[in-house]
Amino acid sequence: MIAEKAGESYMVEDLDPFDIAVKQLEKAAKVINLDKQALNILKEPMQILQVRIPVKMDDGRTEVFTGFRVHYNNARGPVKGGIRFHPEESLSTVKALAAWMTWKTAIVDIPLGGAKGGIICDTKKLSVSELERLSRAYVRALGEYIGPEVDVPAPDVYTTPQIMAWMMDEYENIVRRSAPGVITGKPLELGGSLGRGDATAKGGMYVLREGAKKLGLDLSKATVAIQGFGNAGQFAVKLVQEHFHSKVVAVSDTKSGIYSEKGINFDALMEHKKKTGSVANFPGTKNITNEELLELNVDVLIPAAIENQLTAKNADKVKAKIILELANGPTTPDADEIFFKKKILLLPDFLANSGGVTVSYFEWVQNVGGYYWDLDEVYSRLDKKMTKATKEVLDAAEKYKIDTRTAAYTISVKRVADAMKLRGWY
Ligand code: GLU
Repeated sequence: MIAEKAGESYMVEDLDPFDIAVKQLEKAAKVINLDKQALNILKEPMQILQVRIPVKMDDGRTEVFTGFRVHYNNARGPVKGGIRFHPEESLSTVKALAAWMTWKTAIVDIPLGGAKGGIICDTKKLSVSELERLSRAYVRALGEYIGPEVDVPAPDVYTTPQIMAWMMDEYENIVRRSAPGVITGKPLELGGSLGRGDATAKGGMYVLREGAKKLGLDLSKATVAIQGFGNAGQFAVKLVQEHFHSKVVAVSDTKSGIYSEKGINFDALMEHKKKTGSVANFPGTKNITNEELLELNVDVLIPAAIENQLTAKNADKVKAKIILELANGPTTPDADEIFFKKKILLLPDFLANSGGVTVSYFEWVQNVGGYYWDLDEVYSRLDKKMTKATKEVLDAAEKYKIDTRTAAYTISVKRVADAMKLRGWY
């Protein structure tokens, strides 16, 4: 069934994200002959917390929100992952995203596990003070379920550095000490890291560079379509032009897509989005749907929105040579098989978008050490991490003759399983 998300125009196939995450894991487990007991541990999160959060609204009413925090696996270190505020949030989505965080921290080989959180809410319908009360109440509900050595949240869909600041402040009030390492993606003034803002897209550029090298694709002559205009998507539009001089011919947000053969100017588009609230009707472009964007005749397709966008229904129609998944879970297993057969180079989500958590890790290291790096240092360390991980994934795909997502899984799963084995969990 295809369902339209409330008030949004990304088409979402009704597939359970956690079922997909388990399917992907099982496929990789077969390739590496993973111990059955290890697989059994890895098929479910270690801990799940679900909370009810009563919040006083501006009009005096109390509204009760539902929140989640899932600790998927902490064998490699404190768990790490963002918090999403979304009207369609569900436990299954949070579990899947927590699993993907586990593979994400492992693929870039940082000493952290995987987690994810979410609150079912529509931030567009909350005032700033309601949003602050909700964010603080969520942290109180989590209590010592989070902490710099336990679980370190970060931003995700519809959460911002300001929200991270409120959350850090609330946590410090609870523990009565300074603890900036409890959360990442903070404003610079409160211990955030230089380079965290565009880290997801920036990391993706290093992955794309390596992928293009592998295919022999000249990115300076490439056309690019980008689905999604949130943190990852916006910076992708900017950076793919800055890094490679590629031509971004299509962009979309929840309301519409836009297309121009001549290319889209980032600064002018940002101004238009600020003024009108959407990329739709940007002068010099024609409006297209999100579905049309995915099927355009471009060299590089960057899904940077939400889950389940590339499915059995449209994968055959995708014409891109490279898919760089800046979103989490944009491709279903059926679509994966189609892309593999069509020899499209898919740079899978937990590799492609791991720049965000990598710079989050740098932020946490700087917070714990109390010494702050300059931007060059952040970017050069990020480049090193992303380049190494991408090469390892491409090599594994070649070695086992498998798709790149499964190849990435084989590396991450093995790292997590090895840590569990050394701990004596199986
Ligand atoms: N929410 C981002 C992700 O999905 C970042 C997580 C983090 O920085 O901990 O990777």
